[in-house]
Amino acid sequence: MRILILVLIYLSFPSPQGLPTGTLRWIMPAGTQGPLRETLRGQKGDTIPAAAKKLINVYKDFISGYADNHIIFKDQTKMLWDDGIKNKSNKALLDNPDLKDMFNQKYPVGLQKVPPAPNSDPGRVRNEPFFLKMYGATEKQVEKNLTEITWCPKLVGQKIRVTKINGIDKKLSQISKELDEHPELKKYLSHIGGTFTWRNIAGTNRHSMHSFGMTIDINTAYSDYWQWACKCTNENAVIKYKNRIPQLIVDTFEKYGFIWGGKWYHYDTMHFEYRPELIQ
Ligand SMILES: [Zn+2]
Repeated sequence: MRILILVLIYLSFPSPQGLPTGTLRWIMPAGTQGPLRETLRGQKGDTIPAAAKKLINVYKDFISGYADNHIIFKDQTKMLWDDGIKNKSNKALLDNPDLKDMFNQKYPVGLQKVPPAPNSDPGRVRNEPFFLKMYGATEKQVEKNLTEITWCPKLVGQKIRVTKINGIDKKLSQISKELDEHPELKKYLSHIGGTFTWRNIAGTNRHSMHSFGMTIDINTAYSDYWQWACKCTNENAVIKYKNRIPQLIVDTFEKYGFIWGGKWYHYDTMHFEYRPELIQ
């Protein structure tokens, strides 16, 4: 009994690193003693991929966290993060991306000095179920979340319908307010080309982001679209870049989490879409 007590005292005597000396130290590899447990705890919390963290940060109304290769929603449902399929073709990325694929190209915030490289379309890869879940899975469900705002009250005064989800109506009102102070931009901001329309992208079976009320096309008369340039819907067409939209408009939208279609090889310069996960 006396020996047993002595052994117990020996095992529980703290080492300078704060861990018990004795057996535990002998069975653990050198260098993994003191801080081991803390490190493991830290790494466990850190296994959330950086891109998944971005998604969690910007869609706090919907997402509660990440676990086991899934994004976890507040309603306890989950969505696969990485389907493990490597080397997807551009077509596969557009038609069937997982959540991770949405981050496969970095969106360049600010002034674009050179036209986008072939097939550089950051933000054009979209996991459709994710947006259907947040904004509404049917036309009726999306419509329930829409509200009307007055676009640029001083310069334009057009009523547009946008979603309240993710505070997008408030963000667009703020963008409108700032742009309304620039009469020189009036011609680009007049005759808003469209906000909400439940439809597919021309030539595809994919939902247009306009189906969700979080996207706005400004004046088409001063805009350019790759399909108009090539007079085709062929993704593999060689396209000549063209843009007439002033940078101030782009900067103002980006400030509130909207990406611009003018930064795509398959450009769409009237098009602004709420994708704050790509702007952080
Ligand atoms: Zn558009």
